[in-house]
Amino acid sequence: MGLSDMAVNGRILVVDDAMENIQILHAALQDEHEVLFAMDGPRALEIARTQHPDLILLDAVMPGMDGYAVCRELFATADTSDIPVIFVTALKSPEDETRALDAGAADFISKPVNAAVVRARVRTQLTVKRQRDALRALILTDSLTGAANRRAFDERLDAEWRRCGRAGLPVSLLLVDIDHFKLYNDHYGHQAGDATLVQVVRAMQRAAARSQDLVARYGGEEFAILLPQLDTHGATGVARRLMHELEMLDLPHAASPTSPRLTVSIGIAAMVPGEHSQASSLIQLADSLLYQAKAGGRNRYVSSN
Ligand code: GH3
Ligand code: MG
Ligand code: MG
Repeated sequence: MGLSDMAVNGRILVVDDAMENIQILHAALQDEHEVLFAMDGPRALEIARTQHPDLILLDAVMPGMDGYAVCRELFATADTSDIPVIFVTALKSPEDETRALDAGAADFISKPVNAAVVRARVRTQLTVKRQRDALRALILTDSLTGAANRRAFDERLDAEWRRCGRAGLPVSLLLVDIDHFKLYNDHYGHQAGDATLVQVVRAMQRAAARSQDLVARYGGEEFAILLPQLDTHGATGVARRLMHELEMLDLPHAASPTSPRLTVSIGIAAMVPGEHSQASSLIQLADSLLYQAKAGGRNRYVSSN
């Protein structure tokens, strides 16, 4: 099957100040795609931010904010920087083409547009984006458990720290470490240990189920649960739910000196990011509280205040 036969459906934002051009592009794309449209730059940016199109077809020449300015703004904004842009324009000189590519365009289509060409170019860009998204998901995911990996955690912590800092909202972090997991492996075998790590991740995902919560494998049998916009009280609720989920799972740990069941210890840190504070201080705090939970006998949480 060739690329041109493959169904690649997407949500496409068409931006043009002339209704006639929007209609032509809409007619060319509507059978395969969901088509959104905007007739000026600011409206295009708003739709891009709120509707997350897979691809933008952008008119270069528009009154007010032109296509190049829209393109630069899209790339400068975190939420929209990964949306590919195809310029659609009557301008044909190599300079115009170079200018579009320099502004960050993925491709370039000349007016008057040919419907088959538009469909083919759109399909290509959607395919490239799908592949890029799949690759990105892969490099951000822990292969054993399917949880976010350390890299994904670092990225998100950084972003949430800045976002919550601007909004004056707290960020909470749970560091969760499985108790006596070395003894678990020694007793049940490494493969059983692996299967248990997967179950513990599922339990954490059930306990921290808001869309903005992130469960990450921080290393080995230690996990980080990032809870934006939750204070200590809210984060403690998540820790309690996690311990309850583990009780329900009721995983035997015959070799543990502290409990007949598999348990975890949790450090709970919450901070409102300040101007001079760093995200690493949240990790350090959670880590020292986790240490206290271990030293205090395990199977418990210790929180920052
Ligand atoms: P503590 O209660 O103090 O946390 O004791 P612990 O035994 O859990 O901690 P320790 O750091 O001594 O050992 C961690 C163990 O976790 C040892 C290591 O083999 C195991 N582990 C780390 N990653 C994996 C994994 O991917 N699969 C399995 N099966 N075990 C793992
Ligand atoms: Mg451990
Ligand atoms: Mg550990």
